[in-house]
Amino acid sequence: MATLELRGLNKTFDDGTQAVRDVDLTVADGELSVIVGPSGCGKTTLLRMVAGLEEVTAGDVVVDGNRINDVRVDRRDIAMAFQHHALYPHMTVAENIGFPLHVDRVHQTVIERRVADTARDLRLEEVLDRRPAQLSGGQRQRTGLARSIIRHPRLLLMDEPMSNLDTKLRTSLRSQLLAIQRRVGSTTVYVTHDQVEAMTLGDRVAVMRAGRVVQCGSPIEIYRRPVDTYVAQFMGSPPMNLLDAVVEGGADGWVLRIGRHRMSIDDVAGRWPGLDQLVDRRVVVGIRPEAFQRAPHGEFELSVRYHEHVGAAQWVHALIGGRVIRVAEALSAEPAD
Ligand code: ATP
Repeated sequence: MATLELRGLNKTFDDGTQAVRDVDLTVADGELSVIVGPSGCGKTTLLRMVAGLEEVTAGDVVVDGNRINDVRVDRRDIAMAFQHHALYPHMTVAENIGFPLHVDRVHQTVIERRVADTARDLRLEEVLDRRPAQLSGGQRQRTGLARSIIRHPRLLLMDEPMSNLDTKLRTSLRSQLLAIQRRVGSTTVYVTHDQVEAMTLGDRVAVMRAGRVVQCGSPIEIYRRPVDTYVAQFMGSPPMNLLDAVVEGGADGWVLRIGRHRMSIDDVAGRWPGLDQLVDRRVVVGIRPEAFQRAPHGEFELSVRYHEHVGAAQWVHALIGGRVIRVAEALSAEPAD
């Protein structure tokens, strides 16, 4: 439907706040790209510049090769879904959802069919005749979402559109949303601070920090090869454990010394070019919580502080080298009593 390119995009507000800095990003035709980062890192500002709701300080917003910085909002063929949707209070849910098609003068029978399809996708069939004041927060949010996708825009921008929903509904709607996005084919940019949402929804994920995109790649690339400790800790739950260590290389092979523990890294040393430059230097080692395994004669002896049960897994909080780390262990299924 459309390719979106952001080239050297910057936003400085009148009070001097630099919300977005030198962002380069390409979203391929039909792709769903997620922009993820903590509160205040510039996600919404970036999205608003693409939508035309915020003036660009420097850089270009390019759609299908055309610079659209100066194109009016209503001429951009972009739909936006927000965390808080302003629904028309005097219209029913069905009328609210179908409104963009009315504006485009689409035939009534087509509108009715599209409204019914979209309402089914977003589980709103039961409330189509109600007015916004008679809806729960989640239903209102889904109505806004339905209204933004009904026109099958070539570019769809979503800013935390599921943040008011409970976890169960969010999880099921996530897969619905993916299915709808695939069917409609809108090139989509989805903003969230939730790394689980980013990992599960994104064809590609751009991680932001203080106005900059610090890494962009497929969810699995970002998880496996984070560019720095910030990305490493931001993506993954519980976050990656970061430990101070010293590299040793000698007759015993490659070893990491963590506190009083020594861990052989011979199996992975080949993947680290330049490891010999780090001998006797202090380094930070990242170990994912799920990378630990219990073993009768393992290399670390962890002193366990407490366990946290989270359904199918438990997180073991343990001490190593004076640091508390988290270890994730899957729980085996037990027959019900
Ligand atoms: P959140 O997840 O909390 O919505 P965000 O990542 O979307 O955060 P933005 O809303 O883009 O962040 O804000 C980025 C920075 O720009 C913040 O420091 C914010 O305070 C600042 N900012 C946003 N709007 C304005 C404005 N109109 N004037 C001045 N500063 C602003």
